[in-house]
Order: sequence, then structure tokens, then C-alpha cells
Amino acid sequence: MNLQTVDTLIIGGGLSGIYAAYLLAQKNQSFVVLEARDRLGGRILSPEHKGFFSDLGPSWYWPEIHPKMAGLIQELGLKGYRQFEEGLGRFQRPNGEVQTVRGYTNEPLSWRLEDGMMALITKLCEELSGNAIKLNHPVCNIEKKGAEACVSIGELGKEPWARFRAKKVILALPPRLAASTILFTPDLPDNLTQAMLKIGTWMAGQAKFTALYKEPFWRQAKLSGQAFSQRGPMGELHDASNNEQVPYGLTGFVGIPAAQRHDQQPLIEAILSQLALIYGQAAAQPTTIFYKDWAREQFTATKLDQPPMYEHPLYHPPAGQTGFWDDIIHFAGTETATQHGGYLEGALAAAERAVR
Ligand SMILES: Cc1cc2nc3c(=O)[nH]c(=O)nc-3n(C[C@H](O)[C@H](O)[C@H](O)COP(=O)(O)OP(=O)(O)OC[C@H]3O[C@@H](n4cnc5c(N)ncnc54)[C@H](O)[C@@H]3O)c2cc1C
Repeated sequence: MNLQTVDTLIIGGGLSGIYAAYLLAQKNQSFVVLEARDRLGGRILSPEHKGFFSDLGPSWYWPEIHPKMAGLIQELGLKGYRQFEEGLGRFQRPNGEVQTVRGYTNEPLSWRLEDGMMALITKLCEELSGNAIKLNHPVCNIEKKGAEACVSIGELGKEPWARFRAKKVILALPPRLAASTILFTPDLPDNLTQAMLKIGTWMAGQAKFTALYKEPFWRQAKLSGQAFSQRGPMGELHDASNNEQVPYGLTGFVGIPAAQRHDQQPLIEAILSQLALIYGQAAAQPTTIFYKDWAREQFTATKLDQPPMYEHPLYHPPAGQTGFWDDIIHFAGTETATQHGGYLEGALAAAERAVR
């Protein structure tokens, strides 16, 4: 079996893991990123259609309150633009009736990233050596061996097909997912495992839908694209256009709990009918659509993440610990940040702490 020894292993190639790698590269330290999926980004996902990148995970950052995100975007030479919010809003009652309501500007102001949020990951990776990133490497076991950790790759319950040894390991994945899908030897203390399982993974139970169009017909009708519905299937909608260029888009969150989102096709048909009621018939004929159900992603959500989360939790390191096993293992990942946990800003903060 393949056995590789490195100084630091980073488990998870989402924003937190890739930012930790970027910081380690700046310090000339050797590392390997182990990513379970066949792509980087984790909850960041921006598929391309005709040069337009639709954010199916995070789409906003708030420069006024998220200084690390604002600073990194500037440092990487990326460009942000204001969320389009000009015009009137729409509100749908439980009986389906739609009303026009006053539009509003979010405070603090919401910004989007040109070329989608994935541009952050792509740019950070330009500074990393290609062979430091291992895709399709799901970690299933972590064992303490003296002053080092031995990390196995494979499916839980099956023979691992690769092993890595490292002096330090950064766990850059949601703590609940780590506690549910990785075996630790020796056993982690019960209070730590329980604390990890109880930290809800932010937005893991959500599904997002985006429809792209040739014309921003809602803007032409003096609508901002903002809409809220008490009927569904979409609960909340926004303009998702890439600044001022074709294609234009509408996007939002599906308001139906994960357990009821069975068949994708009827759900998408119901969403398009709802969009037509809210914005007019043109909304039922998008040029393309994207739908992502995060609750069905094995490397994001667990069974515990299926019920909707109605409030943003107050995140902190599990059981107050930023690491364990004499500091061989360090937590990163947004759910372990003490400030802005759950957000992209928290993913950066937790990575900085782990690297420190
Ligand atoms: C629909 C949606 C909308 C959102 N909107 C916003 C927004 O507008 N603004 C905002 O700030 N935040 C938003 N968020 C939250 C934001 O996406 C997260 O804060 C951020 O992406 C978390 O990054 P992370 O690196 O901590 O975790 P993740 O992105 O979850 O990264 C963890 C990585 O670990 C990998 N992994 C998992 N298990 C293993 C394993 N066993 N072995 C190896 N690798 C593994 C995963 O594949 C993944 O790549 C949104 C999230 C979603 C889902």
C-alpha cells in the first residue's frame, strides 16, 4: 500500500482547507490536501454556463463586516459587485396570491464575486503546487502513532487503499461530518465527540435553484428580483445576474425540508410555475437551470443535518478545544470559528487559527 509522509495533512479542500494550504505555502511549509470529492471548493460550487458562473453554494460576502474576505479578495486581485436590489419586491401568500411590495436594500450591503465564489478557490490554488492536492481521497481513519498521525484513505468498513503519516493534521471539514464519518484511534473523549456531533453544519440541509435567462424581464418590470413566499416551493428569491451581462438570473432557496424533496423533476416543474406566478410567464422559460440539494451530499450533510435549521448557531470550537492529541490535530472549518462561524469569513478565520 501507498504510504506518504508529510509535515502537515489538511483534510478537506473547501475554502478553509485551501486557505490553510495557501497560508502554509507562504510559510514554505510542506503539506498535502486530502479531498474526498473529485473537485475542490466543498460548499462553494459555481458551475459555468456561457461564461457565467452560478453560485449554488455561497454567493454573498459582506465587506463591511467580513474584513478577512474583503482583504483576501483584494489580495487575490478578484472583483466583487453589489447584489442587484433596485426596484420592487414580490410577496406570495400561502394561498398562492402574489403582491408587489416595497423593495429593500440589505444592511450590511451584500456583494457577489465576479466569476462566482469558486474564483476564490481557483485563485488560491494558483499559489499551490498541483501534486499537493489529492482529489478522490476520502479519509476514513485517523490513528495517533506516537507524536504523529496516521491517516487512512478509503471507504469506512473497507480496507484502506492509501495511508499518509504527518506531524500535524488540520481537520478542515464540518466537525459533525468528521465525527460521523471518520474513525479516531484512540477514541476521542465522549464530550468531544458529542460536541462535534451537536455542531450543525451551516446550510447543509438546504437546496438552491438558479434559472438563467437572455433578458432581465423582471428588472424591465421594475422588480428587483427579490421575492419571499409562504407557499413555496421556493421560499426566498433574488436576482442572480452577473453584473450587467447576459445571461441574467434568478436564484433562491427551496423552502421545502430535505425529507420532502424526493423527486427532482416535479419539484423543478413546480418551481418554474411558481416563478411564472411571481415574475410573469417569461420566468417559466429559462435558457438553463441549476439545482443543488446539499442535504444529499455525503461529504457535506449527515442525517442530523436533514431537518431545517431556523437560526444561525453561535459557533465555537467543539467542547472549547481548537485541537486534540497533544496538538497533533487542529480544527479548521467554518463551524469551529469563534466569530462569523458558518460563513466564508469563519472558514478563513478558522484556517488562520489552525495554521498559527
Ligand atoms: C446553499 C448555501 C449557501 C450559502 N451561502 C453563503 C453566503 O452567501 N455567504 C457565506 O459567507 N456563506 C454561505 N454559505 C456557507 C459557506 O458555504 C461555508 O461557510 C463555507 O463554504 C465553508 O467552508 P469550509 O471549508 O469550512 O467547509 P466545506 O466547504 O464544507 O469544506 C469541507 C471539505 O471537506 C471535504 N470532506 C468531507 N469529508 C471528507 C473526508 N472524509 N475526507 C476528505 N475530505 C472530506 C468536503 O468534500 C469539502 O470539500 C452557504 C452554504 C450553502 C450550502
